[in-house]
Amino acid sequence: MIKYRRRGYYCKVCREWKAHREFSETGIPRELCVECEELPLPERNERQRINHVKVLDAKLRLTKDEWDALRKYARSRTYPALKSFAVEVLAHKREMQALHLPAVEKISFSDLKEFHKNELRERLYDDFMLLVKLTPGSPTVRMVNQTEKDILKRYIHHTHLQVIPDEEWRKMSDKTMAEAAADHKEEA
Ligand SMILES: [Zn+2]
Repeated sequence: MIKYRRRGYYCKVCREWKAHREFSETGIPRELCVECEELPLPERNERQRINHVKVLDAKLRLTKDEWDALRKYARSRTYPALKSFAVEVLAHKREMQALHLPAVEKISFSDLKEFHKNELRERLYDDFMLLVKLTPGSPTVRMVNQTEKDILKRYIHHTHLQVIPDEEWRKMSDKTMAEAAADHKEEA
């Protein structure tokens, strides 16, 4: 079986996967990147919660626990920036719910928010890396297309956004594939 390792570690404050070099070698188990580790605790806590709200904002349907978390953030007395952001997101979520907006929204890749673009790029990287590792020689165009299709399909379930690939998507995907191939070569 091929062992597959994700690039880097997950920082629980940034809520992002970051390269190994962005984590210190010693100290706290690697769940905080160096940047977050250096923040004063209250700021670190607030940032972690704000990033959670960003994740919730990007989802079209929230679970009961997620609604509860968002309502709690919107009442926060400790973190004013968190509070105002959560109030805004909560209002937007309630509006969407009241309007019964369609379950799936169609959107071109280039019209997505940076957050989604980054998330899709990371997913592509991970799957391309796996593809490169599993394929002797270079993956065919057909394999690459199938990987892209699978990712976009899973993304609908995750965010209820149906992303239409366009010119920008094409460029991003080609670049990401080249990166994955280069990183794999370096590792090997
Ligand atoms: Zn971090």
